[in-house]
Amino acid sequence: MAVRAASWAFLGLLFAITAPRPCHATDSFPVAIAARLGGDESQTRFVMDFTRKVDLHAFTLADPYRVVVDIPQVTFRLPPTTGESGRGLIKAFRFGLVMPGGSRLVFDLIKPARIDKAFVIDAADGAPARLVLELVATDRASFLRRMEQENRLVRAEAPRANAAPERDGDIHPLIVLDPGHGGIDTGTKGPNGEQEKDIVLSFAERLREDLEKSGKYRVLMTRTDDTFVPLSERVHMARSAGAALLISIHADSLPPREGDAQGASVYTLSDTASDSEAARLAEQENRADVIAGVDLKAEPDDVANILLDLAERETKAFSLQFARKLIGDLKTATRLHKKPLKSAGFRVLRAPDVPSVLVELGYVSNRADLQSLLSVSWRRRTAEAVAQAIDSYFATHLAGARTGAN
Ligand SMILES: [Zn+2]
Repeated sequence: MAVRAASWAFLGLLFAITAPRPCHATDSFPVAIAARLGGDESQTRFVMDFTRKVDLHAFTLADPYRVVVDIPQVTFRLPPTTGESGRGLIKAFRFGLVMPGGSRLVFDLIKPARIDKAFVIDAADGAPARLVLELVATDRASFLRRMEQENRLVRAEAPRANAAPERDGDIHPLIVLDPGHGGIDTGTKGPNGEQEKDIVLSFAERLREDLEKSGKYRVLMTRTDDTFVPLSERVHMARSAGAALLISIHADSLPPREGDAQGASVYTLSDTASDSEAARLAEQENRADVIAGVDLKAEPDDVANILLDLAERETKAFSLQFARKLIGDLKTATRLHKKPLKSAGFRVLRAPDVPSVLVELGYVSNRADLQSLLSVSWRRRTAEAVAQAIDSYFATHLAGARTGAN
């Protein structure tokens, strides 16, 4: 990581960076032990204490206005509500892993601001090492001009090769399982801090085990640990690996003032949302990249314009076919939402050539659903139901393909 931090070469006057230090496997990570905010809407200071000095790289992102601070991987030992509310120019902030070896702080701003100072002070005289970030209010034009000057491309790293699905001559269909969120992006949270990113990863792992055990499929996971993967990267992984099906796995939640929804839903891609709840959910799930501090303008979007060509119409039909089967089988294992089949503009479903669905397993905001989501026996039963739907989908699909070839 130290090498990578040093390769971010554009550092201008605004930034201070410490010399890269070598990484040793025996090193435990520095620990963040406190964070505080000071100042007002013209000038705001953020300070985070660490057990030892870390390198930093700070930059800004627009629409929405954010400041991102990249540091080597650290352990965050902070109160759970840290960052939920802000002060001065900072509306809120979050922190976490964005890639193996790299942690990140992302600050949401209430208006444009420039990074006046960003530096780290060594621990001394019993005081911890301190990361200091000072922001000063500015206007949109200056904010954008400065961002332009920085002339950098900030992108999350290329995907980890976390599986080796390709076996020579293996013609079994490749299923991509996409556990939502990860790392700095926790997804939605339950009343006792249960995190969507953990719930959906456990589920995906269980499903992968079932599918692999059947011997009928190859499985690729878009993530196998608690790291962040941008949405376009997830789509790219599925396409470049030649996936036959992508299943994105999530859990939903509803703010208490909006009632108490429950049950699983299955979503397919559409340009216009099937209803307002689907639109809200797509917006929420599509925020993953914003939350993790990804510059959306710098993201490759090779499928930005979805053209209704033949392949795509076929993909849509297959996606819907699978979604229907999935609902049929899920019904035997878990409670369904009162309107379980919906559609909206989910970015992760945008591969024009890979049938894709997004499953919301249930609501972490609903007590009974949350209990299910955390239960091992529910997970086993529900993963089996999904595997069953995959079986019947491919049975029909492959039979259809063979007929078509005759
Ligand atoms: Zn989600």
